[in-house]
Amino acid sequence: MIPVNEPWLQDEDREALLECFNSGWISSAGPYLEQFESAWAAYCGVKHGIAVSNGTTALQVAVEAVGVGASDEVIMPSFTIISCASAVVRAGGLPVLVDCDPVTFCMNADEVAAKVTPRTKAIMVVHMYGHPVDMDPIVAVARRHDLKIIEDAAEVHGAEYLTRRGTTHAAWRRCGGMGDIATFSFFANKLITTGEGGMVVTHDDELAKRSRSLRNLCFQPSRRFLHYEHGYQFRMTSMQAAIGLRQVDRMDTIIARKRWAAAGYTKALGGVKGLQLPAQLDYGHSVYWVYGIVLDDAVPFDAAEFARRLAAVGVETRPFFLGMHEQPVFHEMGLLRDECHPVTERIARRGLYLPSGLALTQEQIDSVSAAVISVMEAA
Ligand SMILES: *Cc1c(COP(=O)(O)O)cnc(C)c1O
Repeated sequence: MIPVNEPWLQDEDREALLECFNSGWISSAGPYLEQFESAWAAYCGVKHGIAVSNGTTALQVAVEAVGVGASDEVIMPSFTIISCASAVVRAGGLPVLVDCDPVTFCMNADEVAAKVTPRTKAIMVVHMYGHPVDMDPIVAVARRHDLKIIEDAAEVHGAEYLTRRGTTHAAWRRCGGMGDIATFSFFANKLITTGEGGMVVTHDDELAKRSRSLRNLCFQPSRRFLHYEHGYQFRMTSMQAAIGLRQVDRMDTIIARKRWAAAGYTKALGGVKGLQLPAQLDYGHSVYWVYGIVLDDAVPFDAAEFARRLAAVGVETRPFFLGMHEQPVFHEMGLLRDECHPVTERIARRGLYLPSGLALTQEQIDSVSAAVISVMEAA
């Protein structure tokens, strides 16, 4: 079976891990975390990095750092991982969903303005599958209504967005550096991995301070075991930071590998009838985190059946996300019921992603493509 993800760690990562281990700095104290935080923040073009235990806890910290609390609304995409909506619900807030774009699978920027109410506190943008969200219209809404922007950049390490396109001020900006606060995941299938891990990044000194405090039980600097606020224990270990550090220097190579794999699939699958392949719009430099494909409505089977047929010929895949408005756990809580987000509903049933790990070889790309073609031709 060709695995859907295989990480791509190097000798230098093992050496860094061993050096950390031998130094005795195995908890979250010591120099490795600060080095990793400042290296990743600098890469994203922001001032502060706050490493945490994973991308889900990063979202929890970010949501609470911007002050989302009881009955505050946060506008976010329906098509995303549950971590986004969970963070808001756990903070006492309400997720307010917008549908996604059928081409980029990113939240539909045009729907955001209509969802703003007096209770809206923030907009959570989630860059999807390597492609940036169209930020400018969302930033404009946020400015108009004084809302915070939380960027979930877990799937777009190093991706870029062309801001103010069509003007003389057009400029490429890295994802994670455009919101008030942004989050990353370093899970094993992300562009940088520390096994498990995550980071909150921000330009804002106050948000950074709050994030650091929330990560570490809200201990007071002046009196350690005195607490005015309810925090979390979401710290990352030095050993994880040591693994991540060298990868920051390898970002160009990592992104080039992702783009190479995506180009390989696109070349092989470009002419296949019935398949929608990943696109890159003029305002985005995608990093092709995963190679997501969607079956046209005319194809006589759905993504679940497609996955079974591909598995039968040795190709592991993953289904697309299922919309937040289709989650029984939220319905049970009386949330997100009776909503309809047709694009999310369609791609959740028609989409899956192919093996996309950084360790993917040309031979594997060829075999996967041949398997896809054979399954589609048998349709
Ligand atoms: C992976 C991912 C997360 C969660 O990251 P974990 O490290 O697995 O908790 C959050 N948001 C998005 C968009 C993701 O893809």
